[in-house]
Amino acid sequence: MTEPASTPAAQVGDHPAMDFLNTHATPNGVSTEWLATGTDLLTWLEQANLIDVETAARFRADKAAAAQLDVVAKGARALREWLRALVRRHAGRPLTATAETELGPLNLLLAGDKSYARVAGGPEGLAVQRLRRWETPEELLQPIAAAIADLVCQADFRLIRACEGHDCTLMFLDRTKAHARRWCSMALCGNRAKAAAHRARKRP
Ligand SMILES: [Zn+2]
Repeated sequence: MTEPASTPAAQVGDHPAMDFLNTHATPNGVSTEWLATGTDLLTWLEQANLIDVETAARFRADKAAAAQLDVVAKGARALREWLRALVRRHAGRPLTATAETELGPLNLLLAGDKSYARVAGGPEGLAVQRLRRWETPEELLQPIAAAIADLVCQADFRLIRACEGHDCTLMFLDRTKAHARRWCSMALCGNRAKAAAHRARKRP
């Protein structure tokens, strides 16, 4: 039984695509879904800084798009479970160019990208920005696709780990200097594991 979320999704993945993966998790042993509806998807995209507040508000206010948003959320869940299978297959060793054959769903999504470029001035001088018009709810999957593309091209898959916490399903990219991260977070799982180890030591 999967419960709808009552708290914001964990942002412990240290990469937006890993956080996307963690939008289904089992905190405290309860299977929880953070992308159950189109509204959920907007909330998560906003929380993950993948869309701006105005874009989220505009889609939220568009009652005619509500049903379509729910369909997009379903697409997001399917994309997430595809990504989960890919990550599980490859976590712990380098992802090589041969993985291209497994990236069909990602490339199909990327082919529908309608973003456009703009040259704008910033603190570092002129730079190319990618912008979106956000004309249809389907476009909401594009920042997620871009994050997944970044993960598979840029992240070191040797550093993708699952939290060692008992019953915890959260995963993360270990970007700590020593690459010795074991927990989704100290507050959630680290302290619990330490307390359990302490109790075990005290037992006669
Ligand atoms: Zn954990």
